Parts: sequence; C-alpha cells; structure tokens
Amino acid sequence: MIEISNLHKSYKTGANKLHVLKGINFSVQEGELVSIMGSSGSGKSTLLNILGMLDEADEGSYILDGVQIKNLNEKIAAQYRNKFLGFIFQSFNLISYKTALDNVALPLYYQGHPRNERMDRAMSYLEKVGLADWAGHLPNELSGGQKQRVAIARALASDPKVLLADEPTGALDTKTSYEVMDLIQQINDEGRTILVVTHEHDIAQMTKRIVNLKDGLIIEDSLVNQIRAAENV
Ligand code: ADP
Ligand code: MG
Repeated sequence: MIEISNLHKSYKTGANKLHVLKGINFSVQEGELVSIMGSSGSGKSTLLNILGMLDEADEGSYILDGVQIKNLNEKIAAQYRNKFLGFIFQSFNLISYKTALDNVALPLYYQGHPRNERMDRAMSYLEKVGLADWAGHLPNELSGGQKQRVAIARALASDPKVLLADEPTGALDTKTSYEVMDLIQQINDEGRTILVVTHEHDIAQMTKRIVNLKDGLIIEDSLVNQIRAAENV
C-alpha cells in the first residue's frame, strides 16, 4: 500500500538548514496497523505529512497504492489525497459552527455526493463510532473523546484506503485514549490500513507494528504482541 525509500526532508530556517528526515525506508502492507514512534521533534509529523501528501520530500521515492507520488500535478495530487487518504489530528480540527453530523458529511460534500446520500452516510459513520445520539450537537458540546470520534467518523466518510493519525490521543486522558485506540483497532480489524503517530509507548503498544524514529532515521521496526485496548482500561 505504501512504499517509501531513501526519503529526505530538510527545513530552511533563515540561513540554517534543518535536516529532519535523513533517508527513511519502509513499506506498509494493506491492512496493517502501524505506529510511528519517536520523541518530540524527531520528525514524525513531517513523515506523516509527506505520506499524507500534505508536504513533499526533497529526495526519495514514495509509492502509494502503486502510484509514484512525486511529480504528480497539484490537481491530480488533490484528487488522489481525497480518494485514498483520511486524516485524524491531535486537535480534532472539527468545524466549530457545524454539527457533528455536518462535520462528518463535509468530505462527501466536497466529493459531490447528493445531500440525502451525504446525510445517510454521515449518520451511519456516526453510529459506527457510537455517537448517533450526538448528531445534532456542536463540537463544543462534546467531550474530547467524543470530538475525536467525530473526527474519526469524518475521516472514514470518504472510505479512504489509508488512515493517517497524528497523535490522535495527544489531547485525551488515559482512559479516553485507550477507548479511542480501541476504536482504531476495530477499524483496522475491518481491514483498513492505519498509521498512528505517537510519542507514547503505551499507545504504540496497541498497534501491530512499531516503527521507531530517531535523529531522522528508523532505528527499530518491530512487530508488537498486540495488547487489546480493553485490557488496559
Ligand atoms: P514531531 O512530530 O516528531 O514532534 P516534527 O516533524 O513536527 O516532529 O518536527 C521535526 C523538526 O522539524 C522539529 O525540530 C521542528 O521544529 C522542525 N520543523 C517542523 N516543521 C517545520 C517547518 N514548517 N519549518 C521549519 N522547521 C520545522
Ligand atoms: Mg508531531
């Protein structure tokens, strides 16, 4: 599903150049649940943003579902991103003046689906994350865990091949973090490929494979004896 080789990325800050990714190689098969772990500033978000086609590498190759991503023109890249990738962020990134249902339906609006279909599909995804009763509520009427569930439903609405989550539990307490990871495990059990960025070892342990990032390189890539989230609560 994902194949990257010799990926490099630097940021220019004034006269200085910060070399963040220094030759990353890894691949992810369809259906995997992988965490990318590393301390703050190790380049996790930089890597995830490149995988999510939100940013481009300076060097190296990135093949997503058989397509070389480099040098795609802007329009095709955007279509590709909308069709293949779903995003979940630490800060939820919900639209504050739209209800839970309308937030989930938004990607379907951009994909041009008719209103009835948008609402039906959005509702079914809200049901999936256990929030059908909260469809008409605004984000500020929801708890952190509920907001993240809405964001997960929204990410699923466009039926992406790969779900990319950047510190999805970073703003949540421990119990809620485990519940959100439980949901992520459940979505992966249904066959969806998921990458989770985290700096927390406990969270990474709830995926199937941990890729450890340090000083711009992968220093460890190992399978996890998966702990079910429920066992931790
Ligand atoms: P992580 O997600 O692991 O905390 P990041 O990928 O966000 O790490 O950042 C890696 C390094 O790159 C950090 O030192 C950060 O300050 C720097 N960095 C990230 N984004 C930018 C940017 N847009 N411009 C300049 N430096 C950046
Ligand atoms: Mg980050």
